[in-house]
Amino acid sequence: MNKKKRIIFAVAIALVLVAGWALVNMSNYNDTQSIQKEQTATTAPQQNEASLTNNLQKAEETVKNSLVRSSGGKVTRKKVEKYNLSLHEASFYEQLGKTGKAACSLCPHSCVLDEGEAGHCRVRANVEGKLRSLVYARPITMHLDPIEKKPFFHFQPTEKTLSVATAGCNMRCRNCQNWHISQLSPFEMDEVKVKSPKEIIKLAKSNNADIISYTYNDPIVFYEYMFDIAKLAHANDIKNTMVTAGHINKKPLRKLCQYMDAVTLDVKGMTNEFYRRFNTGRLDPVLDALKVIDEEGVWLEVSYLVIPGENDSEKDFKKFSKWVKDNLGHGTPVHFLRFFPKFKMKSKPATPVSTLEQARGIALETGLDYVYLGNVRNSDAENTYCPNCNKKIIDRSGYRINELHIDGGKCAYCGTSINGIWK
Ligand code: SF4
Repeated sequence: MNKKKRIIFAVAIALVLVAGWALVNMSNYNDTQSIQKEQTATTAPQQNEASLTNNLQKAEETVKNSLVRSSGGKVTRKKVEKYNLSLHEASFYEQLGKTGKAACSLCPHSCVLDEGEAGHCRVRANVEGKLRSLVYARPITMHLDPIEKKPFFHFQPTEKTLSVATAGCNMRCRNCQNWHISQLSPFEMDEVKVKSPKEIIKLAKSNNADIISYTYNDPIVFYEYMFDIAKLAHANDIKNTMVTAGHINKKPLRKLCQYMDAVTLDVKGMTNEFYRRFNTGRLDPVLDALKVIDEEGVWLEVSYLVIPGENDSEKDFKKFSKWVKDNLGHGTPVHFLRFFPKFKMKSKPATPVSTLEQARGIALETGLDYVYLGNVRNSDAENTYCPNCNKKIIDRSGYRINELHIDGGKCAYCGTSINGIWK
């Protein structure tokens, strides 16, 4: 190549690079614009329903598209193997004829995925026409916790539990406390550990944990891993608990319930609109999930994170309390949790304790027997009182139990049965 040709070649390469840089930045700019639209939508309740829904749908599309990019493009067998992730075939999906698409029916998002595409949860992907769980046996964290931390206040108090989580989540809660785990693509994990269900059981046993908790992210997204561990746990006299937002379809949930001993389900708000704005989900399937868990005889506690100005009206508290009482019974423990500014809701203040006390008062007036406040230090509302004689039967400080006056599931003072699973 002579000197003139070399100069023309170098100029051409430079032009291609500049054009590429401009295109990438233009697409980033478009994404930023859409996300800004979403943020505006979530802080502008006065917008009409149609424009809000439209904005949110666009924003969800943007997030979904960015997911494929965040895993570095198409999810292929080669890439999954390179990152030491899993190709475990998922349950609850069907292949759509010869289209190469896979339709997931695990949760109400009902993702229909093209070859190489990951779902809304980031951790289930269509690889070669089959739906795969990328995080089967790939926990991102394992930790020993007091069972009270989940929160469970009426299930085997003072027990230790081995908590297990993976990357990914099927919700996008703007206030997520564990966003660094739940909003991560498995391809972004710093270190990929491999732990089979058998190894998790061994770990629980070596730490004298009689309970395993599937928690931190929503365990629905690692359904197959959770199911296999839970089945093996029961065969080894270990109990299972799940902490979830309950955005799951009925069929997989019923199947899971056969190995689940207790569930804490976090209700985010009392309208579909709230779920659309803050969580990318819907309330209706969550209420169905609560009924299914109750029907299946799994111990259930319900939490409700109170966000100032968003789900903290008297009407919200009444609606929530009445729904729990009418559908799950007055003996269902309820936890109103204090919100702290996190993730995409850093500009909101923490929930005033007076608002939480108002919520508790309304729930007790509605007729619920056990109503607690969470994330509030030195509150009487972290203790359990007998609904008959009103004596304090469990004294707690945070996750610590100081006194326990329950004998054989009954109040030690008056003999009234106390709803729960006691040791
Ligand atoms: S579990 Fe994941 S892939 Fe399946 S429908 Fe829900 S978000 Fe989509």
